[in-house]
Amino acid sequence: MPAYEIYFRCGDCQREHTIHTKIHLNPGPDRKQSLAEFFVGRTMPPQASSLQGHRAFCLKTGRKFKLDNNEQILLVPPANRAPLPSQLPLIPDAT
Ligand SMILES: [Zn+2]
Repeated sequence: MPAYEIYFRCGDCQREHTIHTKIHLNPGPDRKQSLAEFFVGRTMPPQASSLQGHRAFCLKTGRKFKLDNNEQILLVPPANRAPLPSQLPLIPDAT
């Protein structure tokens, strides 16, 4: 099951920050989507709804927030993250 990294849209600096939490979703989105977008017309599983009220922190302004808006909570699939060097494909030897 893929682990989704959780980010939030920061109203203070208009950037996206991680909240250093992952949730497992199956099925989950194959691209970055907010909870509101992905679960439109669907029941939200407990691991997703429990993100509401989670504390978040703006690295730029130092302000602390409580997440209460599903539009602002983002699911980021593992493929959107930069691979570790050991996971990069091997380049075939030209000889
Ligand atoms: Zn911020």
